[in-house]
Amino acid sequence: MSATPRIAVIGAGIIGASVAWFLAGRGARVVVLERADGPATGSTGRSAAGLRHQFSLDVNVRFSRFSAQRYLRFREEVGAHAGFERVGYLFLVPAGAREAWREQATTVREAGARVDWIDAADLARRWPYVSAVGLAGGSFGPDDGVLDPHAVTLGYLTSARSVGTEVRFGAVVRALEERSGGVRVHHGDDHVDVDYVVNAAGPQAGAVAELAGRPLPVVASRRCVYATGRLPDLPRPTPLVIDVATGVWLRSEGERVIFGRSNPDEAPGEHEAIDWAWLDETLEVALPRFPFLEAAGLDRRACWSGHYEMTPDHLPAIGADPEAPWLVHAAGFSGHGVQHAPATGIAVADIVLDGRCSRFDLSPFDPARFGRHGGAPREAAIV
Ligand SMILES: Cc1cc2nc3c(=O)[nH]c(=O)nc-3n(C[C@H](O)[C@H](O)[C@H](O)COP(=O)(O)OP(=O)(O)OC[C@H]3O[C@@H](n4cnc5c(N)ncnc54)[C@H](O)[C@@H]3O)c2cc1C
Repeated sequence: MSATPRIAVIGAGIIGASVAWFLAGRGARVVVLERADGPATGSTGRSAAGLRHQFSLDVNVRFSRFSAQRYLRFREEVGAHAGFERVGYLFLVPAGAREAWREQATTVREAGARVDWIDAADLARRWPYVSAVGLAGGSFGPDDGVLDPHAVTLGYLTSARSVGTEVRFGAVVRALEERSGGVRVHHGDDHVDVDYVVNAAGPQAGAVAELAGRPLPVVASRRCVYATGRLPDLPRPTPLVIDVATGVWLRSEGERVIFGRSNPDEAPGEHEAIDWAWLDETLEVALPRFPFLEAAGLDRRACWSGHYEMTPDHLPAIGADPEAPWLVHAAGFSGHGVQHAPATGIAVADIVLDGRCSRFDLSPFDPARFGRHGGAPREAAIV
């Protein structure tokens, strides 16, 4: 291997862009290969853009803390605006689930993040558009919020380019060929010779791993985002509100509200269309909790769908592949890649350039866990 390693990053979503920026900042020679004609056209461009510290696993809270701090000083460090606004995340906790949320709050606080318990009466006063019927209360993260994934991806790539990173669009990676002293990455009719490959291919990360003959259980899982018409009288910005009992989430987006709910019965796959039948089922469970939606009206042209990149335990794979150490996975974020991109970027740079990352305990994210019986602990707080 050359003294300055050469690295191909597959994917110009928020993860690939962050990885490229952290690697380039440490002097590595990086080429980003993206099949689309521009950045952030995959999951990144379709996300709800939220960042929360409220997770059940310590490492997820720490990833959020690190990333939130980086997003807050994004302009100074990267030279672009991350658009991070701390509007908060409000989980609506049903009576009966209070104890589990108390335990999670302990994990969150022990990892150094803030979370407040709001009792049902207070909740109804602060967020009068939420019905508090049947709720024990709310779990509110004052440092949680939303950001601008397009701006972050573009910011990272622009800054990485300014220190020598090459970004090739329209570059569909179709083969990974291990050769003596490195790897040849074939894309289209072209190729690039590198020492390492970072798999940041989002929902397609399983297919990219297969190019190296390696299994990686990342599957695409459709999520639809429905948008109301203008709601000028709604107090905003709203927090990102999640009704724990039904899984319905919503938040303000300008003068409208966007909302959604995962469909646990839908088979994985890259379904592209918006699921309008699921809208009716979502509204049926959403209206008792968010009665204002009844009169809101839907703006069909503002709705969209995209894909989560799910793993069996809802945790990402971050680290070298157990059988192909030149292939470093950074994928399978199961709906949290936007918020965890900065932490992932620095961790991958450590792994590639130092051989290991000691700033986080990455054992729950070990790509080798999928082959072991039992696997890692699951992240319980999934939307
Ligand atoms: C509706 C919805 C809501 C979400 N809400 C949130 C949220 O609130 N907060 C949060 O943190 N996350 C959220 N997510 C998840 C988040 O969007 C993803 O975790 C994140 O964008 C993953 O980023 P990525 O860069 O890994 O993947 P992507 O953005 O999909 O990027 C991967 C890139 O790899 C490219 N690629 C694939 N195969 C190849 C190949 N063979 N050759 C070259 N290029 C290739 C693709 O074209 C793509 O551009 C949401 C996702 C959806 C769909």
